[in-house]
Amino acid sequence: MSGHMTPEEFRRHGYAAIDWIADYWAALDELPVRSQSAPGDVRSALPAHAPEAGEPFEHLLADLDEIVVPGLTHWQHPRYFAYFPANSSPAAILGDLLSSGIGAQGMIWATSPAVTELEQVVLDWFAEALGLPAHFRSDGSGGGVIQDTASTATFTALLAALHRASQGDVREHGVRGEEWTVYGSSQAHSSLVKAAMMAGLGAEAVRVVDVDPRSQAMDPEDLRRRLAEDVAAGRRPAMVHVAAGTTSTGACDDVAAAAHVAEEWDVWVHVDAAWAGVAAVCPEHRGLLAGIDRAHSFVTNPHKWLLTTFDCSTFWVSDRRALTGALSILPEYLRNAATESGDVVDYRDWHPQLGRRFRALKLWAVLRTYGLEGLREHVRSGVALAEHVESLVRSDPRFELVTDRVLSLVVLRVRAGDEATLTAMERVNAGGVAYFSHTTVEGRAAIRFAVGSWRTTRQDVDRAWEALQSAVEAQTDA
Ligand code: PLP
Repeated sequence: MSGHMTPEEFRRHGYAAIDWIADYWAALDELPVRSQSAPGDVRSALPAHAPEAGEPFEHLLADLDEIVVPGLTHWQHPRYFAYFPANSSPAAILGDLLSSGIGAQGMIWATSPAVTELEQVVLDWFAEALGLPAHFRSDGSGGGVIQDTASTATFTALLAALHRASQGDVREHGVRGEEWTVYGSSQAHSSLVKAAMMAGLGAEAVRVVDVDPRSQAMDPEDLRRRLAEDVAAGRRPAMVHVAAGTTSTGACDDVAAAAHVAEEWDVWVHVDAAWAGVAAVCPEHRGLLAGIDRAHSFVTNPHKWLLTTFDCSTFWVSDRRALTGALSILPEYLRNAATESGDVVDYRDWHPQLGRRFRALKLWAVLRTYGLEGLREHVRSGVALAEHVESLVRSDPRFELVTDRVLSLVVLRVRAGDEATLTAMERVNAGGVAYFSHTTVEGRAAIRFAVGSWRTTRQDVDRAWEALQSAVEAQTDA
């Protein structure tokens, strides 16, 4: 077959690709963190048509350097502090590479038993590592599954919650004729509204629960009031979404308090700890999940802070029957003896899509290579660096903390106001030394300093901070 690499060529190009990655990481420090490309730069540098004749693989690597790298924002850069980290790591990459090499499709147990069973074991290990209750484990009433993203996990949780609340009716007849409602704080991730839209409930079904202005955490009394009002009006509450670490400020809703309210109406509790949840590998951070034993589902993303190359979102349910009840469907072409025996898990019933890759390999590689000790060290170093950021902010009267630091996220602003805050941030981002993203808290602009990359040192934090200080000085001088 023309263009097909021989095994020897595959080895040679494979080594070159790994070398390329190692060199890329080594060079990152010198590159601007945020891409400086203008719209269309990358497109216009690429040919308009695919080549008729195959080309040497070296050409692709050369184009990566020439065309692609300038169009990248470097998420693995040591001074990447925007959004949340999306850590890759050597171990995860090799795990992912092995998964690609094996190329198995684990849609049902029978299509590759190891894909399913390794994932079950890895998710049980990880549940234990996070201190999750035993009923989330696959040998309990629940079980874990790797989803592509927390957004998909939240959507899946909502489908299971609707199934449970409707006793199967939604699955058969859809949501017509009932006014289903969903609850989350004003700080809940937008994937909650998207889930309601995708489930056919509509964005209006989401009740926006008030937060405490200082902590930005959900007000359980407002949750109770809204639930009571909806139930009195004949509406059907399907799910309460609890954020353990919001995207904007890292605010942590009180899981136990929210669950206590939801239990009054027997409503499904979904805990979204996409970013913060992995910190529970450290016993001293488990307090953020206090009350998790009362949740019906829980998601956290190793693909954010925990060194597992995107995509790897770990999702658990306390009772797998709600999930499989909502999503199982068995066309003739997937019938097989193992499924019919009832002795195996078919993960195609645990998420919207059928096909699935062997994502457990990269999490397995991370867990085995770092060990839980190494992962705790990584989380603790991110938290310690954020504490350092916090002390830097406190020591400069031109800046102030907007909310209390949560784990490795510091939210700050320039005292002079919104414009000064956003202008200083943009100046740093445009300069390339570091990259921050912004939010608004109680209507005021703020800069998010999200530490957590595996390559960030104290010197990197100091350099980024000095860049912010210089940006503020430049405004004063102007
Ligand atoms: N939930 C929270 C709290 C988040 O912070 C994020 C992303 O930052 C998400 C959900 C969405 O994550 P994903 O990209 O995995 O869908």
